[in-house]
Amino acid sequence: MKGKGITFKLGLAITIIILVVLIPLGYVINHVLQNYFIAKAYEDLSLQCQRLVDLITNDELNASSMVVNTMKITNNHVMLLDPSGKTVVQSNPEEHVHEMISAEDWMTLQSGSFIKKQITNTSPHFILVGQPIIYNEKFSGSILILSSTEGITESIVQVRKFVGLSVLGAILLALAFTLVFVRKFSNPLIEMEKATRRIAKGDLTVKVEETSTDELGSLAQAINDLAKDLKRFQDTRSEFFSSISHELRTPLTYIEGYVQLLNTETWEDKEQRKQMVHIISSETKRLKGLVNDLFDLAKFEEGKFELTLEWIDLIEVIDNAMDYVNLRAENKGIQFILHEENIPLLFLDGNRMQQVFINLLDNAIRYTKDGTITITLSNEESFVQIEVQDTGIGIPEEELPFIFDRFHRVEKSRSREHGGTGLGLAIVKRLVELQGGTIGVTSQTGEGTTFTIEFPLS
Ligand code: ADP
Repeated sequence: MKGKGITFKLGLAITIIILVVLIPLGYVINHVLQNYFIAKAYEDLSLQCQRLVDLITNDELNASSMVVNTMKITNNHVMLLDPSGKTVVQSNPEEHVHEMISAEDWMTLQSGSFIKKQITNTSPHFILVGQPIIYNEKFSGSILILSSTEGITESIVQVRKFVGLSVLGAILLALAFTLVFVRKFSNPLIEMEKATRRIAKGDLTVKVEETSTDELGSLAQAINDLAKDLKRFQDTRSEFFSSISHELRTPLTYIEGYVQLLNTETWEDKEQRKQMVHIISSETKRLKGLVNDLFDLAKFEEGKFELTLEWIDLIEVIDNAMDYVNLRAENKGIQFILHEENIPLLFLDGNRMQQVFINLLDNAIRYTKDGTITITLSNEESFVQIEVQDTGIGIPEEELPFIFDRFHRVEKSRSREHGGTGLGLAIVKRLVELQGGTIGVTSQTGEGTTFTIEFPLS
C-alpha cells in the first residue's frame, strides 16, 4: 500500500516535470517552425513572382499566358493584371483574388513596390505575394501569386504529432522507470517497517537484511543495532530485577532471623548479642545504600536530579572520600598514593563529587586483592584531569563499552560476591556528565583499571 503511494507520488512528480519542460518546448518549436515555413514560402513566391515579371518585361505580354499556364503545375494561383487592375489572365478563374487585395495594396503596387501578406479569414489560409511590372519606367500591370498554407499547416501538424508522441513516450518511460526504481527502494523499506513493528511488539530477535551500502543500508543497520541494544537492555534489566530481589532478600532474611533470635532467647553472652546487633546494623546499612542508589537512578530517569553547585577544592573532596573508605583499604592491606598539582577551585556539587570518588575508590578496593590505589590530579590548562588507578583484577576488554550501563555487571557472580549491585558506575557517569565533565576507563585484566575524569576549566 505504502509502495504504491510512493510510486504514485514519484510518477506524478516526474510526469509534471516532463510536462512542464516539454509543453513550453513544444510551443516554442511550433512557433519557430511556423515562422520559418511562412518566411520560406514568402521567399519562394517572391522569387517566382520576380521571375515572371522578368519574363513578361522581356517578352511583352505574349509570354504571359504560357507562363501562367505553366504556373498551374505548382498548385499556386497566378494572376496577371493590367495597369488599371483588371485581370488579363489567371490560372484559376474561381479564386477571387481581387477581394483579397485592399486599396492600400493596390496603391503600393502602383507605386512600384511589392506586397506580401497572409490571408487568415479564409479556409484554408493563404499567402499572397504581388509584384509590379515596370515597363519603360512605366507601371504596366502586376503579377500576383496566391498560395495556400495547407502544406505548411500539415507539416506543423506532423511536428506537433511528433512532439506529442515524444511527450507520451517520455512519460511512459519515466513511469516504467519509476515503477522499477520504487520497487527496488520500497521493498526494503516495507521490510524495515515490518521489522520495527515487530520490535515494537517486543520481538527483539528481528534482523533486517543489510543489502546495500547506501542510506537504506545504514537504516537497516540502525534498526538491527536498535534491536540488539534493546535486547541487551532487556536482558540486563531482567537480570537486574532478579539480582535486586536477591540483594534485598538476603539482608532482610538476615535481619529477620537475628531479630527473631534476639526476641526469643535471653542473652547472657553480651558479646554474642553485640555481634548480632552489628550484623543487623551492617545489613541495614547495605539495604539503605541500595535503596539510595535506586532512588538516585529514579531521579535521573525523571530528569529531576538537583545539584548544589559551588566553588569547591577537589583535593579536599578526594581527601574526605579517602578517609571514608580508608578502614576497608587498610583491612585489605591496600595503600593510597596521591599525586596532586596546583588545581584551581571548580564550580561543582561537593557532596555529589564525594559520592563519585567514594564509588570509584570503593570499587578499586573491592576489585583489588592487595596493592595500591593511585589518585593523580593534573591541571591541563583547559581542563582538570583526575585519574583513579588500581592494581586489581581488571575488566575484560569486551566488557569495557558496557561498564557504565545501568544494571551491567562483569561476570554476574563477580560483584555479588564482592557486594556490589551494578549501579555504582552508572550513577558515577551520570553525576560527572551532569556537572559538565567526562569519564572514561582503560583496563588490563590481571593488571589493573584506571578511571579518568575530566572537567573543563572554561
Ligand atoms: P558494582 O556495584 O557491581 O561494583 P559498578 O557499577 O560500580 O557496580 O561496577 C560495574 C562492574 O564493573 C562491576 O560489577 C565490576 O565487575 C566492574 N568494576 C568496576 N570497577 C572496577 C575496578 N576498579 N576493577 C575491576 N572491575 C571493576
